[in-house]
Parts: sequence; C-alpha cells; structure tokens
Amino acid sequence: MNFNDSRDHLDSFDLSTPEKQRYARHLTIPDVGIEGQKKLKAAKVLCIGAGGLGSPIAMYLAAAGVGEIGIVDFDIVDFSNLQRQIIHGSSDVGKKKIVSATERLSEINPEVVVRTYDTRLSDENAAEIAEPYDIIIDGTDNFETRYLSNDLAVLTGKPNVYGSIFRFEGQVSVFAPHLGGPCYRCLFPTPPEPGEVPGCAEGGVLGVLPGIVGCLQTNEAIKLILGIGEPLINRLVHFDALAFRFREIKLKRDPECAICGENPTITELKNIEFACDMNDTPTLKEIDVHELRIRLEKPEPFVLLDVREPAEIEVAKLPGSIVIPLGELPHRLDELNASAETIIHCKAGGRSAKALAILIEAGFSDACHVQGGINAWSTEIDATVPLY
Ligand code: ZN
Repeated sequence: MNFNDSRDHLDSFDLSTPEKQRYARHLTIPDVGIEGQKKLKAAKVLCIGAGGLGSPIAMYLAAAGVGEIGIVDFDIVDFSNLQRQIIHGSSDVGKKKIVSATERLSEINPEVVVRTYDTRLSDENAAEIAEPYDIIIDGTDNFETRYLSNDLAVLTGKPNVYGSIFRFEGQVSVFAPHLGGPCYRCLFPTPPEPGEVPGCAEGGVLGVLPGIVGCLQTNEAIKLILGIGEPLINRLVHFDALAFRFREIKLKRDPECAICGENPTITELKNIEFACDMNDTPTLKEIDVHELRIRLEKPEPFVLLDVREPAEIEVAKLPGSIVIPLGELPHRLDELNASAETIIHCKAGGRSAKALAILIEAGFSDACHVQGGINAWSTEIDATVPLY
C-alpha cells in the first residue's frame, strides 16, 4: 500500500542536494531509493503522545525524513520521565513535552515539519486533528487513547500502528480493517474494568522497552509509507525482554466487531470511561497530605500503612510506615489491628483507595487514605522525598 505516490504528486517533493546527502543511506537501498525518499517526504504521520513510545517514534520518523509529523500531548516533562522518554533532556524538565519534542526534532532534522497539538486526544478533537495525516501511531499506552485511536483510525480509514508496554514485555501490531486486518476491538471488544489492570503510573516499565517497541512501531509506519515488505497486519508480535523471545500471534477480524464488523454499532467517536488511577470509590474517607502532616505531629499513635511495592519503597518512603503491598493485603490483615486508626497511602492515591475498601470490608472502622499519595507529600510538604 502506498500513500500519495502518484508520480505527479511525488514530483512536487523533489529532494534538494542537502536532502540527498542526509538520506544517502536510504537512497542506496534499492527498495527505497529516490522514489521511496520522496514518499517519505510526502508522508504525514500523527504520533499520539511524546512519552516513552512517542520519543523513539517521533525521533526516527524525523530522522527518516517523514515530511510532516504531528504530535499530540498536553503533559509537562518531569524527572521521572527521563529514564525512558529520551526525546526530552534534563534541562527540559518543567517544559511542555510538545515544546521540548519540537526542539529535539528540529535538531535531528530541520527539513521536516512538526505540528503540535497541546491537548488530550478526545472524541471532540480527534477527527479534526487526524484529518491531514496518512497514518496514526498510538504512542500513549493507556486504554482511553488506545480505544479512541483505534476507533478514529477505523472510522477514517487510516492504519493505526499499535504498541503497548508493561514492565519487561511489549506488543506491536498494525490495525487496518480497510486493508483486510482486524482492529483492536476485534481482539478486545470492551475496555477492562478499572482495577483489572495495574494503574498506568503504577505498573513500572524497563526504560529501554518503550525504545524497542516504539522503534518497531516506526518500522511498520515506514514500511507502510514505502509500500515495501509485509506489514504487521493480521499479526500481533509479543516481545519478552527477559527471555528475549518474540512470539507472533495470528489475528482474525471479528465479523461481529462493534466498529469494523458487518453491522457496526459504533459509528462515531466516543470517549471510553476508564479510571486509570483506579480511584473509583469517591465515598471512601480521604485526607490530604496537609492533614496527614498535622496528624503526624500529634502525639496520639496511629498506623501509617504503605501499600506500594518494595521497589517503590526504596525510591521514597515516609518514616514510621508499615509496608504491605496491595496485592498481599487481603492475606496479611492479621498484621494490622482493626480497632486502631489506620491511614493508608500509596504513590498517587489509587491503590490506597482500593486498600481502604479492603480494610472497610474487613471491619476496620477508623481508616482513611491519603489523597495524592507520597507524590503529593513530595510536591506539597517535603521536596526531599523523591517524586517518581
Ligand atoms: Zn474490529
């Protein structure tokens, strides 16, 4: 499949002498050559997200000479991003990611046009943002955007290059029902319930993994643009970094699929509801970090329960806390006293809310959890506690 590759169209994308020098290693590949490089120059690719996956995606698209690169991101560069989001540097902390990314991309290749969208992709803006682009690459790795970019791609007839990461594992595929393959909803018709999967900020990921997966996504986008090789349509590749194993899973289109099936029920974009931080229990009693500080200064004893994982405790910890990871809590309730006042915290407030629900169920009458978790403590009370 080729984009914009009619000879007349490509004629307007002649390469200058500096461009011929820059892309010399492409031009000498018979499958790419001048014609292929012009296809890259004529191509327009939308990258959703300028984070872990978005970093290598946008950088290699720019280096390869993809003519127009769109980036959607509303976030700000934080120190905890730098372990994997290599489009940003230490001096970019505090800047808008789209600003930092644009600066880096123009340094990599000033010949390409970078368009930025300082917003969260939603059902209201997605169609308009995606309109000029040939390919959508999902570089965000969260369920809201995954379903939205899938639906956007299906409804607009554009390929959606999918990537996903978790700890030491990644997945890549190209969803393109208009080219005969399935879409993401053919595999997973509905989003998981909040709580079925670890929260986005809580799962953790090996820093190099989004680099690997993002590069695989970019490879697929470049193949689609050039119309060479076998695109990863009808197939999903799973990568296990610890075992160093790539596994290919054959995919089939689901004729019952709600969006690309024979009788689609989804005919327009709609945001899905997915509480990333699992904080779906607003009636639970919560306190903020300022109340926690006041409580810590009072002489009356209470139990400060930290439900994060041991590896997180090594990064940042509040003194005097008892550590029981959320997953172990139901089996370790006997280590706690149901009649004692118990204040629970985690990283950002998602897991502590779940832990509180467990304690309430178990008869703890005087328990609450800390809104915003240890990261709120770090930003609002004590900056010497590392933010992660
Ligand atoms: Zn489908």
